[in-house]
Amino acid sequence: MKNLKLNAEQAWKDFEDRLAPQLNFSVIDRAVYSHLFRHSRLERKLRFRFSMAWLAGRIRLSEKTTRQSVRRLIARGVLRLVERSCQAHHVVCVRLPQEVRAVCAAETAARGPARTSRGAGFAETDFLQTRALRRAIHAREGGRCFYCLRRLIPQRRCLDHVVPQASLGSNSYRNLVSCCLDCNSNKAERHAVEFVRSLYRDRRLSDAELSGRLRALDDLAAGKLIPPLPRQRQNGNGSKEES
Ligand SMILES: [Zn+2]
Repeated sequence: MKNLKLNAEQAWKDFEDRLAPQLNFSVIDRAVYSHLFRHSRLERKLRFRFSMAWLAGRIRLSEKTTRQSVRRLIARGVLRLVERSCQAHHVVCVRLPQEVRAVCAAETAARGPARTSRGAGFAETDFLQTRALRRAIHAREGGRCFYCLRRLIPQRRCLDHVVPQASLGSNSYRNLVSCCLDCNSNKAERHAVEFVRSLYRDRRLSDAELSGRLRALDDLAAGKLIPPLPRQRQNGNGSKEES
């Protein structure tokens, strides 16, 4: 993480307008983040060492409540845990709102067309429009659930909006993935980053798989995961299109 030159005014606005609402911060999460932010980034420090008792005392909450919030912020990628020592000290990197992957991914996906060799129109294509386009998204995932990597059968798969439509997510190939019905219903309105981290906590993904999924979410939002279009596939090696 680079030590970005801090514009405190902008960071505070981004916290209020983007980070807290997009990641559904509770009042407690706000207090914990603000306090850690004040003692790290506002002091030009990337890393900050603290004990849970110290933090809880400063924000006048119980240690248990404070610890739960710190864990939530780590799970959402807002804090990066660098070290946890046996003396109950934590060392964390406190990310600026613009450095939080879930916020960036959601905004890149919602922003619209990516620059690809196929032109801007391709990025705007509605991939729910035709059966062939929907199949192209399924084909891109290679028959596995985008989130949990489970093998999919056509009867138990669906397309999921990475950024929910309720949050202005589009039907672009950059915002649609093929997934199992369980992941589709369990993710609900959650952020995809938070959802794949929950799969990791439930031991449905390994360390390496979690890293791979987070990278795939970045690539998807950046427009790098281009689905194989029906026309290309007919001209290709003649392999039969999967249903
Ligand atoms: Zn799944």
